[in-house]
Amino acid sequence: MDEAATSAIHGVVIAIDGPAGSGKSTVARILAKRLEFLLLDSGALYRALALHLDRLAVDPDVPVVPESALESLDLRAETAAEGVRLFLAREEVTDLIRGERIGSIASRFSTKPEVRATLLTVQREIASKGGVIAEGRDMGTVVFPHAQLKFFLRAEPEERARRRYRELVERGQPAELPTVEAEMRVRDLRDSTRKESPLVQAPDAISIDTTHLTPEEVIQAIWRHVCQELPFACLNETR
Ligand code: C5P
Repeated sequence: MDEAATSAIHGVVIAIDGPAGSGKSTVARILAKRLEFLLLDSGALYRALALHLDRLAVDPDVPVVPESALESLDLRAETAAEGVRLFLAREEVTDLIRGERIGSIASRFSTKPEVRATLLTVQREIASKGGVIAEGRDMGTVVFPHAQLKFFLRAEPEERARRRYRELVERGQPAELPTVEAEMRVRDLRDSTRKESPLVQAPDAISIDTTHLTPEEVIQAIWRHVCQELPFACLNETR
């Protein structure tokens, strides 16, 4: 990317929020690559923090997470061609955090304001390094309320569960569809009803129902908005 393009996209945030299995991770990864933006997978940060706290034997249902446990977090994100690699101190945890157990623990810890405050700083710091595609639950509402473009992806729960199940099987993780669906519904309910930064659509977000769309079709829908609102970023594809 040339210097003028790099400075034009610096500070640009495209927020993509939605529940588990709505397709946001796949779409965000491809879009970030196409636009040469950084990818901020905020769910992975919550998962890595959950792993860190789990290793310290902090109970996910403790009323307040001890400050010392949060302060000892040594989390580093590295952007690589195949996606973002996450490290806890020197240990790479990119794959380790992907299971349903860590997802469920992450969802329980993520209801706590002190946990969210810890990751707020990390997320904004990552975004300060260039144009960013930020995906998660509260990107457009809380972390980047001034994002230039916001999308909210949704899909029927049965389809989202099937996607999560396929993803786990592809990763070689043990999974059963009814269990995945039941756990996902619990997580959805907790994520959307919690007091702190619940999963809700920002009033200025563009909603896309991905139930019957392929990832490429979702990308095309988003791409049209990107080219309309941020033409300098969209030009990047032909560079
Ligand atoms: O997206 P992913 O399934 O990896 O996220 C794991 C959990 O982290 C979510 O269920 C949610 O509770 C939490 N999370 C959050 N805010 C975000 C991203 C994830 O609370 N921005």
